[in-house]
Amino acid sequence: MRILISGAGIAGLTMAFWLRRYGHEPIIVEKARDVRTQGYMIDFGGTGWDVADRMGLIDALKKKQHLIDPIYYKNRDGRTTAQIALSTLYEAGNVEGKFMILDRRDIVQELYEAVCKDVEIRFSTSIHAICQSSSSVSVTFNDDTSETFDLLIGADGIHSNIRHLLFGREEFYSNHLGYRFAVFLTPSLNYDLEQAYQMYVEPGYQFGIFPFSKSEWMVFFIERIQEQHLPLYGERLNYLRKTIPPYQRLPAKILARLREDTPIFMDFVTQITLPTWSNNRAILIGDAAYCPTLISGQGASMAMAGAYFLAQGLHGQEEPQHALLQFERRLRPHIEKIHASARRFAPNFVPQSRLQIQGINWLLRLSKFPLAKKVIGKQFTVESIIDKHRLAQNLS
Ligand SMILES: Cc1cc2nc3c(=O)[nH]c(=O)nc-3n(C[C@H](O)[C@H](O)[C@H](O)COP(=O)(O)OP(=O)(O)OC[C@H]3O[C@@H](n4cnc5c(N)ncnc54)[C@H](O)[C@@H]3O)c2cc1C
Repeated sequence: MRILISGAGIAGLTMAFWLRRYGHEPIIVEKARDVRTQGYMIDFGGTGWDVADRMGLIDALKKKQHLIDPIYYKNRDGRTTAQIALSTLYEAGNVEGKFMILDRRDIVQELYEAVCKDVEIRFSTSIHAICQSSSSVSVTFNDDTSETFDLLIGADGIHSNIRHLLFGREEFYSNHLGYRFAVFLTPSLNYDLEQAYQMYVEPGYQFGIFPFSKSEWMVFFIERIQEQHLPLYGERLNYLRKTIPPYQRLPAKILARLREDTPIFMDFVTQITLPTWSNNRAILIGDAAYCPTLISGQGASMAMAGAYFLAQGLHGQEEPQHALLQFERRLRPHIEKIHASARRFAPNFVPQSRLQIQGINWLLRLSKFPLAKKVIGKQFTVESIIDKHRLAQNLS
């Protein structure tokens, strides 16, 4: 089949890889000029690990991993109040050696290299209209040309344009979990972070500094917020400068030194919940269909899982529409479980009061003990759905 994929992100590139493997002809359209758009840290394990392993990419990804250790919790004066070693987290989450921390840009780069020789990727291209019949799907692109395919796969992320064209406005399907985040990259300051992730925690927000390399840091800011307003690009740095008090010396210094034109990626923590993921010969996968949010720590994994299982489901099927429905029936229970667990964990993601911060500090100090480990492990599970569930057994 000739299959059009919208979005060359984690889901779209994985999809193209597996479709190619099964003898189809995937073509990708990507709105951006290249694949390495957003850079931020991704906890990568479980299902994502297993899919990447089956693609032969694990060794290449391991070489790119960031060996961050430990995580320091800092108080308002910059003093370390608690810390947790990654090995303790891995043990609590029972990750069985399958876990690493990656820059999103490195994941998409590896996926891109795995497909770019065999798959046509049209950059700076997006779809403006979709018209379906029972045997094909025709699309019109942003340059007003049209083309017909056997199937359309929307892998264009949380603010999916394909979802909008198929099912209508985003607000019908989005569930704001009460947080807004900002991520940006900055040249490192003259300050030795060692290999540690530094988290400055205050009631209502966290400011994390993560050394991507000796010369580049990633900053992750997250705050509790009910309003649904995103500052415009030009207003974001000022907003952060106003929010972070000067007594938080390192965060304030980073913001003071940051170039005014630094791209700051900002968004809400939002789950996508659709009653169905497909419409005739078009289907959504990844964040476009079921974004579980960064709080779940499994968005990248589930983007890869969706692509892997959909390609397997389509393999050898005469009727793609049937395969799409079957794929959804099988994957949806796993996604619902991850969504529910992220919603349960969300209220603890950013502490609301000093008392809650103290509670977290105590939990981390006791993290070597079984009970504390169990509590931490509940919020840090990265189990794979590939081998453990009937879904995979039916398909592979
Ligand atoms: C700060 C942060 C931290 C995160 N941490 C983790 C983590 O620790 N672990 C984890 O598993 N997940 C994490 N995630 C979530 C993870 O990044 C996403 O779930 C994952 O990237 C989803 O993959 P995707 O391919 O569906 O979407 P994306 O990776 O967003 O890719 C979508 C692609 O579609 C393209 N596109 C958009 N619109 C169009 C259009 N109109 N036409 C054509 N192309 C278009 C985009 O340019 C992009 O290339 C995190 C997310 C954020 C923001």
